[in-house]
Amino acid sequence: MSRAIFLDRDGVVTEDLGFVHKVEDFKLVKNAVEGLKLLKNFKLIFITNQSGIGRGYFKFEDFLDYNNRVLEELRKYNIKIEKTYVCPHAPDDNCECRKPKTKMIDDAAREFGIDLSKSFMIGDKKIDVEMGHNAGCKSILVLTGKGMNEKKNSKADYITKNLIDAAEWILK
Ligand SMILES: [Mg+2]
Ligand SMILES: [Zn+2]
Repeated sequence: MSRAIFLDRDGVVTEDLGFVHKVEDFKLVKNAVEGLKLLKNFKLIFITNQSGIGRGYFKFEDFLDYNNRVLEELRKYNIKIEKTYVCPHAPDDNCECRKPKTKMIDDAAREFGIDLSKSFMIGDKKIDVEMGHNAGCKSILVLTGKGMNEKKNSKADYITKNLIDAAEWILK
């Protein structure tokens, strides 16, 4: 079975400007590429809530364009994101997939044959940490993006300033 790193995208790999979806706003988080490079023996998978779609702020196609831009940029550094799992629903939709529910991770585990007990969720919000634990993974809170506001009383297994440090902790 494989091991995976489930990555929240906004605020972890890319800057979170709030409902970001315009290609021209795309910016990588500092140290994200270097951190991801260290994790090349894991399957890297995006797990992202995009309620901006459900709220009508932008369209699913906008999300795809933006996400493809992110994937393309990462490919330049030989970083392969196996797949992006997205919840496009608004919180009120009460869907099955919105974090901290585990559907997106469960689907990925089935599709890629992942051992969740040996895998990690990295995010900048409480819901990411919760989702990881709900799915049986270890959870890391990074203090990029919204992380600083989510630090208090965090149940994360590890809290760190950036993805390089997160990767080093995982590899220890
Ligand atoms: Mg985030
Ligand atoms: Zn959903």
